[in-house]
Amino acid sequence: MLVGAHVSTAGGLDRAVARGAERGAQAIQIFNQSPRMWRPTAYGEEDFAAFRAALQGSGIGAVLIHAVYLLNCASEDREIRARSRASLIQSLRVAEGIGAAGVVLHPGSAKTGDVPKAIRRAGRVIGEALAQTESAELHLEDTAGAGGTLGRSFQELAALMEACDGDSRVGICLDSCHLYASGYDIKEPDGLSAVLDEFDRVVSCERLRSLHVNDSLTPLGSNRDRHALLGEGELGERGCGTFLSEPRFEGLPCVLETGRDGGAPSAQDVRRAMELRRRARAARRRRGARRGGARRGGARRGQ
Ligand SMILES: [Zn+2]
Ligand SMILES: [Zn+2]
Repeated sequence: MLVGAHVSTAGGLDRAVARGAERGAQAIQIFNQSPRMWRPTAYGEEDFAAFRAALQGSGIGAVLIHAVYLLNCASEDREIRARSRASLIQSLRVAEGIGAAGVVLHPGSAKTGDVPKAIRRAGRVIGEALAQTESAELHLEDTAGAGGTLGRSFQELAALMEACDGDSRVGICLDSCHLYASGYDIKEPDGLSAVLDEFDRVVSCERLRSLHVNDSLTPLGSNRDRHALLGEGELGERGCGTFLSEPRFEGLPCVLETGRDGGAPSAQDVRRAMELRRRARAARRRRGARRGGARRGGARRGQ
């Protein structure tokens, strides 16, 4: 697992790499434009080259782009869908320019409308954006399930992937806070393992490409998207450690999105995530050794 953080691009794309390196991040996530405005930032080849040069020797092994929150590919409003498609295309182009692992996208919202129809609309817009770009991956993020947001369940994520015609460039980003808030009990290793078994059955673990680790301010199944600092929410140190030490997550970029006072995660936050991961992995090894011992003991008794 490559543990890292969402960082700002203020001052230029390549500044994000420096911010990641200062935090000791192994992965970073950025917005490719201001998250609250439709207007795209006009990055060009020089910006991409500077970013790629900065990445060399930075210790950062993966970059994610988060599409901005204004997008609603599932909107009933044709104008909003057109703007969402244009912005998504821009995100995918920047991802291609900087060699990002993928663009993370909230699949959209049905608002109060029909969910299957909303999923079809989102699939169409996403498919069109993919058709106009070359190679960048798109990671649909699971959501907490607030309002009419799509992607609250593995069934909805699978339906969304199908609506994109199962394009091989479409993967999934799982967020620990959203999973918990949408009702998946991932606090304990056995619980997370069962949830991933279900994910594998419904979506396929092969499609899992990136992770967000955030604690949740609100309880299991609350359907509210309220992040907390790692260890300070309902998941707690144990739940966050469970997520960070999950064997099936090995090799994937996993970024923190939550810092103190609504700011970006700090070096201290990244260190804390790495420490929780280290401790939880050690606990898993001890538990595995105990279980193995019990099994061997049982076999002997059986003979
Ligand atoms: Zn997230
Ligand atoms: Zn969230």
